[in-house]
Amino acid sequence: MSMTGTLFDIQRFAVHDGPGIRTTVFFKGCNNRCAWCHNPESLIVRPQIEFYPTRCIGCGKCFTACPNGAHVLKDGEHVIDRARCTGCGLCADTCYATALTKKGYTATVDEVMETILADKPYYESSGGGVTLSGGEPALQPEFALELLKRCKAEGLHTAIQTAGNVPFPVLQSLLPYLDMVMYDMKGFAPSVYKWYVRGDRERIFTNLRLLDEEFEGTLAVRTPVVGPVNDTEEEIGAIAEMLEGFKHLSYYQLMPYHALGKAKYDALDEHFEESFYTPSTEKMTLLEDLAARHVRVFNYTRGYLHTQEEQ
Ligand code: SF4
Ligand code: SF4
Repeated sequence: MSMTGTLFDIQRFAVHDGPGIRTTVFFKGCNNRCAWCHNPESLIVRPQIEFYPTRCIGCGKCFTACPNGAHVLKDGEHVIDRARCTGCGLCADTCYATALTKKGYTATVDEVMETILADKPYYESSGGGVTLSGGEPALQPEFALELLKRCKAEGLHTAIQTAGNVPFPVLQSLLPYLDMVMYDMKGFAPSVYKWYVRGDRERIFTNLRLLDEEFEGTLAVRTPVVGPVNDTEEEIGAIAEMLEGFKHLSYYQLMPYHALGKAKYDALDEHFEESFYTPSTEKMTLLEDLAARHVRVFNYTRGYLHTQEEQ
């Protein structure tokens, strides 16, 4: 029987998750809690229900479909009692208005491979392939490994997006089947990790150094730039300076924060942090230019910014 994993999405024709046209497989479950995460449905492994009240036509079917009585009226308003909801998805199945969406499902390696292989001609013509993302793919290492092995057996380019907060041997086990690692460094200062990322800073830093020693494929480091948390010359400069000593780094990429996840936070009844903001284009340019004094920087619009040594 084909191994199973828990996903929340598979996106075909992705163009920002590595080279060429790709299929991105989104694993559900993460052990960081970045306060700005734009995929709040990725954080816990258990399936969840998103509720979009503006689409609701008030048919009431979800009230009778739910075996746990989780759809309730509170002060006359239709809400989901999250403590009662098991994420079974029966209510979403009855909602023709698509006001309810189940996020999270179990898939076999065979099923995921069927979706992946449907676009094989596009990978071949564009230099693309498959990217494991999330959530944190390395938290389901057996499933990730099996998928990567099957992709390599098909001759596909493979990449992973990881935040690195796992024991290094877990990452190490995946490396022989990976062409590219995109590693997220969310910030430099311990306070960023303590208050916003809530992951093991020392492990994340150590794993990146070990990856640089061992991995022979393309290693890219990425930082989501979130105002006012890490959109400073101190934060980005410190990361770039650290990366300057790396032997195998292909490029460093800064990604501006965006607030597009707000609707999903509301649909899950989760708190959305309003105080974050998108750094201006001028600020992003300044930070990229600063980083490029130390490492090669990549930007989708500007291309590669080379260090003076490379020029
Ligand atoms: S089934 Fe959908 S449309 Fe009907 S009441 Fe429930 S959420 Fe609203
Ligand atoms: S997902 Fe299941 S338990 Fe949760 S509200 Fe819908 S029917 Fe009820």
